[in-house]
Amino acid sequence: MTGVSLRLDQTRWREHLQTVLGATPGLVPVAKGNGYGYGLRRLAEESAALGVDTIAVGTADEVAAVRDVFPGDIVVLTPWRPDNVLATELASDPRIITTVSRLEDLAALATDANPPRVLVEVLTSMRRHGIPAEDLAQVVSLLGKVQFEGWTIHLPLLAAGRYVEAERLARTALQASAGPLWLSHLPPEEAMALARQLGGANGDPVPFRLRVGTRLWLGDERTRSTTATVLDVHRIKRGERAGYRQRVVPADGWIIVVAGGTSHGIGLEAPTSASNVRQRVIAFATGSLEAAGLALSPYTVNGSKRWFLEPPHMQSSLLFLPRKETPPLVGDELPVELRLTTATVDHIVTE
Ligand SMILES: *Cc1c(COP(=O)(O)O)cnc(C)c1O
Repeated sequence: MTGVSLRLDQTRWREHLQTVLGATPGLVPVAKGNGYGYGLRRLAEESAALGVDTIAVGTADEVAAVRDVFPGDIVVLTPWRPDNVLATELASDPRIITTVSRLEDLAALATDANPPRVLVEVLTSMRRHGIPAEDLAQVVSLLGKVQFEGWTIHLPLLAAGRYVEAERLARTALQASAGPLWLSHLPPEEAMALARQLGGANGDPVPFRLRVGTRLWLGDERTRSTTATVLDVHRIKRGERAGYRQRVVPADGWIIVVAGGTSHGIGLEAPTSASNVRQRVIAFATGSLEAAGLALSPYTVNGSKRWFLEPPHMQSSLLFLPRKETPPLVGDELPVELRLTTATVDHIVTE
C-alpha cells in the first residue's frame, strides 16, 4: 500500500479510550476537523461503542458525518450565527444541541416556535466566543424560551489560573441560572472539585460534562505508528543539482523520494530564526547539512531524522541521505512523525 499510512493497534487504542472514559465523569468525546487523523466517522463509531450519550462536533457541516453512526445527542461547538442556514435548520432537530455566544443570537433563537436546545457560552480568557460574565444576568429572561442545556466554559490550555477562572465564571453563571456546566480543558479532578465547591446547600455537586478530544483520541502514542513508502532512490554526487529548485547537493549521497507532502499536512520546520545565528555559525563550522540550508524532515531513515533536499511537494518529498549510509529500498516503509490534528493519511490500517 503506497502512500502515508497510519497503523492503529485497535485493541490497545480501545483500552486507552476505556481508561479515559473511566477517569472522566460526564465525558463528551469531541470529533471535529480531520477527526484527529482518524476521520469523523470512525470517532463517531468508537463513541457509540463507548456508550456515551453525547458527542461534540466542530461545525454544523460536520453533523452529517456522525449522525447516522452515533445514536445520541450532538453538540455543535461553533456558536450559532443567524446567517448559517444549516445551523439554523439543525437547531430545531431534537438531537442537536446548539451553542450560543451572543445575547442577540439567543434572542433570535428564543423566537423559534420549536424551542432549540442550547448551551450558552461564557467568555473566558481565551477571548474567542462567549457572553461576558457581567452580561450573564441579561440571559435569564431568554432562557425560558429555549431548552436550556447548560453553560459552556472553554478554558485555555495553560494550567496557571485555570481553576480560579473556571470557578469565578461558573459561579457567576450559576447565580444567573442553575444548569449543568460543560467544561473544556479542565482536568477531571479539578472539575469534580469545582462541582462540589459550587454545589447546592443539599451537598449535591453541580452536574457537569467534560469535552475531550486530543487526550482521548491521541493520548496514548503507543496505540499507533505512521509510515511512508519509499518511491524512488537515486545516487547523487556533491555539486550536482536536484529538485524543483535545482538545489546543489552538498555532499555525495542518495536522494530518497518518499510518499507524503503538503497534501498530507507535511511541511517544513520553521526556518532558523535570526536569534539562532550562533548555532548557524557552529553548524557551518562543523560542515553540517543545516549549514547548507537544509531543513530537518519528519522522516526517519536508519534510525535518524533526515534532511529535506527542498520543501515538500504536494504528494512526495525529497530527502538527502549521505553516501556512507545504506539507502532504503523502493517500497520500504519509513517512520514519519505526523501531527495528527493537521495530517491527512492515505490509509488507516487497523491491527
Ligand atoms: C476542540 C474543542 C475541544 C477539544 O479540544 P482538545 O484539546 O482536542 O481536547 C473542547 N472544547 C471545545 C469548545 C473545542 O472547540
